[in-house]
Amino acid sequence: MIKGVITHSISGFYYVEAADAVYECKAKGTFRKEKITPLVGDIVEIEADGTKGTVVNIFPRKNFLLRPPIANIDVLFIVASVDKPKPNLYVIDKLSAFAVYHGIRPVLLLSKTDCASSEPYRAIYSKAGFSVLECSALNGTGIDAVEKMIENKVCAFSGNSGVGKSSIINRLIPGIELETNEISDKLGRGKHTTRSVSLYKACGGYIADTPGFSSLDFGENGERIYKDELADCFPEFADFAGSCRFGLSCSHTSDKGCSVVAAVKNGDIPEERHLSYCRMYEEVKNFKKWEE
Ligand code: GDP
Ligand code: ZN
Repeated sequence: MIKGVITHSISGFYYVEAADAVYECKAKGTFRKEKITPLVGDIVEIEADGTKGTVVNIFPRKNFLLRPPIANIDVLFIVASVDKPKPNLYVIDKLSAFAVYHGIRPVLLLSKTDCASSEPYRAIYSKAGFSVLECSALNGTGIDAVEKMIENKVCAFSGNSGVGKSSIINRLIPGIELETNEISDKLGRGKHTTRSVSLYKACGGYIADTPGFSSLDFGENGERIYKDELADCFPEFADFAGSCRFGLSCSHTSDKGCSVVAAVKNGDIPEERHLSYCRMYEEVKNFKKWEE
């Protein structure tokens, strides 16, 4: 039996990278009956015949997402450019809540630092307990710290279109040459039309190239966080939510006497983060589990 990781998947074929080679595999027949679909990022065992093989076992997943379909991500980089366009804090907070919800560590990557100061955003997110990195894909500043973060991990990149994700990945994986907005503008076509999820070995770890990781609409795409789970997706609320005297019945949005609201007033929780929380709470408060 050979152990490896699924790095690509195309119409029923799984490409498994093992220590000695890459194997083109099918999934064993019983997976379909059991409704198990191997995902890129899965650690698997295969039976091989030459360079072809069959995936016969999937090791337990640390985490997985269905949109985009990928398993075992250690770090989700949330890329936000300090300018052109300016950061959308609500998008950052939604993506990070989504990562935390799925057991993935969010890391804020402030990009295009050649354009403006990253300081105001670093301040908010460091205070909220995030790891914050900054880089410029244009001049290469800070790329070394991103490389270090990827070492021994599986990392994916998220963030709005145009923040510089492709440019950063092009720096990290020499020769991959993802289409950037600049190039797709020249060619007059939209981005990401044919790409699928793939893992690339780089920087001593893996980088996931995941199209369609830029916007998330709660509820509409089957990704639901329910209102009583939302505070847990803002890790810096934990200490205060735990001691809130209203307990689980508190929305932590505006109630008089709520310890989360008090912590925002005292400056212990960044106000911007709480604003995003309240906005998300409004979006999810009517979701009911029995609607699933
Ligand atoms: P994506 O949509 O997130 O993949 O973003 P792209 O990598 O396609 O970049 C969007 C635009 O920003 C392109 O025109 C890039 O040339 C530009 N860009 C990317 N990184 C930087 C940077 O570090 N500094 C500056 N000034 N522009 C950048
Ligand atoms: Zn409360």
